[in-house]
Amino acid sequence: MSVDSSLIITVAPTGSGPQWQKSPHLPISPAEIAEEAVKAYEVGASVAHIHVRDLETKAPNPKIELYQEVVNRIRDRCDMIIQLTTGGGGPYGISFEQRMCSLQLSPESASLNVATMTFGNSVFMNPPEDVERAAKMMIEREIKPEVECYDVGHIELARILIAKGLLKEPSRISLVLGVKGGIPATPDNLMHMRRLLPTACRWNTIVIGKEQFPLLTQGMLLGGDVRVGMEDNIYLTKGVLAKQNAELVSKIARIAKELGKEIATPTEARRILGLRTTP
Ligand code: ZN
Repeated sequence: MSVDSSLIITVAPTGSGPQWQKSPHLPISPAEIAEEAVKAYEVGASVAHIHVRDLETKAPNPKIELYQEVVNRIRDRCDMIIQLTTGGGGPYGISFEQRMCSLQLSPESASLNVATMTFGNSVFMNPPEDVERAAKMMIEREIKPEVECYDVGHIELARILIAKGLLKEPSRISLVLGVKGGIPATPDNLMHMRRLLPTACRWNTIVIGKEQFPLLTQGMLLGGDVRVGMEDNIYLTKGVLAKQNAELVSKIARIAKELGKEIATPTEARRILGLRTTP
């Protein structure tokens, strides 16, 4: 099996939603978030998708100092790829500049949201001019964007960015299913999205909620990578909370190995994703 067919596992330890209300295990502080990422690395995650939170309110709080502390703590202990969010974690009240502050740290990768949409009970604002500004900032800093496609039309928006030269190929595209306001998490929907992807892309499946493990398994069978973590799903099995993000990574790694998949190391993932050579 060639390295290119190895599975890249991303861990998203905390996200920006109110999961802390349902799980006491959600990491909140930079130290906790970094610890969860490193433990996930030890069981197979090669990428950490990072949000940061306010220590008191636990709400998303995109501050450069918090991102910096998480990055430093992970860097001290392992070589996993660090992907910082530019989602900001809220529709209103967070400026474009604040959302993009994570890019000042020049992470190897960052998320790129391409469409305005209803997201849960709020609105996720991504006007076209902001999306293009964000994409340009990532090109200038040699940050690999991971385009988050929450619905079918978002894939077309990614194609337009590629055509404009604002996304370099091979692009990295995540198909995100199960957000309220985005495409529902069903096997047919994942199959349909998969068919619409640009040819030169390395894609990833992200599923919010209880359909996560079945659909991630389908995504692997279709040749995609996978993301797990408490950002997307806090349960290990029905009614059983994951105590650590590493438990979720172990579970998907176990399924992958049963299917005969090799798990990519961070070094292999860097090469597959075409990241710049200096972390
Ligand atoms: Zn995220």
